[in-house]
Amino acid sequence: MQGSCLCGAVSFVLAGSLPPIYQCHCSLCRQVSGSSSNSALIIERENFTWFSGEQHIKSYMTQTGFKSDFCVECGSPVPNLSADETRYWVPAGLLSEPVNSEVMAHVYVDSRANWDKGLLTDSIAKFAKMPSDEEWSTLCKHFHSHKNKTK
Ligand SMILES: [Zn+2]
Ligand SMILES: [Zn+2]
Repeated sequence: MQGSCLCGAVSFVLAGSLPPIYQCHCSLCRQVSGSSSNSALIIERENFTWFSGEQHIKSYMTQTGFKSDFCVECGSPVPNLSADETRYWVPAGLLSEPVNSEVMAHVYVDSRANWDKGLLTDSIAKFAKMPSDEEWSTLCKHFHSHKNKTK
C-alpha cells in the first residue's frame, strides 16, 4: 500500500494487512486537518518505509506535546513516528485507493464540533477519549475476523 502528500514529494509504503482506521474529533485534530476530524491509522514501525521526500517534512509540536508533521511544499499532514518510536501515525487520506481497511472508531467524540452532526447516526464504535491499547486490540481483532468473514 502506497501513500503520498498532495504534491507527491513525500511518499511512503505500508506493508502487511492494514489496521483499522479511526477518526479523531478532538479540537487539535480539527485544526490540523481543517475539518471535523482526521482519519488515520497506526501501524507498526517495521511495516512502514519512507519512499521519498523525508527532507520536505517539517515538524511542529504544541506546548502540550501534540505533534504534527507536514510537507513544506503542499502542507499535507504526513506520517509521524510515535514518541516511543515503535509505531507510525498515518493520515488515511494520503493512501492511494483502493484501501483495504475502513473506519472502525470515532474517538474524542465528546469534544467534537457542535456542527459535526453526522457522527451520531452511524453504527461505528465511539470513544469519549483515545481507546486504551486493550480496547484498541479488541477492536482490531473484531475488525480482522469481520474482514475474513466477508472475504
Ligand atoms: Zn507535499
Ligand atoms: Zn485528535
